Amino acid sequence: MNSRPLRLVTPKQGERKCEICSCFLANHNLEKLCSPCSNQEKRKSWLSKSLNPSFVTSAEELAKIGIVELIAINKLSAEVAIPLLLKSGVLPGRLRRYQSLLVQLVAMQGVSNSAAARKLNVTRWTVAAWRERLGIKNTKLEP
Ligand SMILES: [Zn+2]
Repeated sequence: MNSRPLRLVTPKQGERKCEICSCFLANHNLEKLCSPCSNQEKRKSWLSKSLNPSFVTSAEELAKIGIVELIAINKLSAEVAIPLLLKSGVLPGRLRRYQSLLVQLVAMQGVSNSAAARKLNVTRWTVAAWRERLGIKNTKLEP
């Protein structure tokens, strides 16, 4: 028959599953969600907060979240989001004069850096740097 586990794990803890993906939770995890799901939920709730210009507070956040996902979840267009990001200082003011190029770049998903560069009449290094800043990930190899 079932012998008791040697470790002191309460049955309740041992059976706890993530409410989203149903994976078993680590014993030290006292939340309702596993950490990947919990991170994703936090991110989602953060993303859907508002259309306020301060909806992203740092360049780092923008690069991590990615403008594509940001505008999708906030139901914004790039035409609206880019000026908001410039206004709130998340995108540096020196990019203001490239505003329309940045908007176009957001729409160029799956287009290579060099092809996008030709279209926007900038260098492909500029395109790469802008994409990195905007968190456009489809041009990078994901691990
Ligand atoms: Zn989970």
